[in-house]
Amino acid sequence: MSVEQTEYLPLALRHLDDAISALTAPKVRTHKAAGRTRVITKPSIYAEMLENIRGQQGTSFGGVARSMPPLWVDGVDWINKVDSTVQGWWPSTGGTLSRLEAFHKASWRPQDTNFLDGASEMINDWVTAAESLLDGGRDHFTLNAPCPTCGEAWVYRKDALGENVRAPALNVSNMGCNCLACGHHWGFEYFTHLAKVIDCAPLEGVIADESNAV
Ligand SMILES: [Zn+2]
Repeated sequence: MSVEQTEYLPLALRHLDDAISALTAPKVRTHKAAGRTRVITKPSIYAEMLENIRGQQGTSFGGVARSMPPLWVDGVDWINKVDSTVQGWWPSTGGTLSRLEAFHKASWRPQDTNFLDGASEMINDWVTAAESLLDGGRDHFTLNAPCPTCGEAWVYRKDALGENVRAPALNVSNMGCNCLACGHHWGFEYFTHLAKVIDCAPLEGVIADESNAV
């Protein structure tokens, strides 16, 4: 064992601590307004991702969501990836958060430094991916129906973590509906028509929500 390896272990553990905190610690921000400073606590990135998935799979579009739940595909991919990787690192009982804590507190040896650095890097990538999903992914869901123009129901694309996944072709965002297979775009003014063609009631809920924006 070289001297370098011994010296690098505390540094690797500190990086791991920072990475785990970025993922799981509540975020504290100070907000200045009218001469007063308030401290605002936001949920951790991990908690925020979980909340978003629960919210998007719920009935945000009224009762119709039961028949076709808007599923935040990238968010679900993210949680599955994080949970399964952490379980692979530290397969103790409990959830991802307690596993990460136990993982961090384990008695690592200097020769584990490379492995720990790899884990920290992966956790930091998860945080970056989650931040962009939370910024851009809120008003986005997919439809499990074939595209009326090209007939494709699925596309293969890279998810937020760079892996090939099968995803529904029809994507609804605040810009309208896009087919990822053929690129056809429907603005909100065509949603009644689109809903009729693919026999999909939830789109009417979107029209009601977005009527001011048309
Ligand atoms: Zn299409």
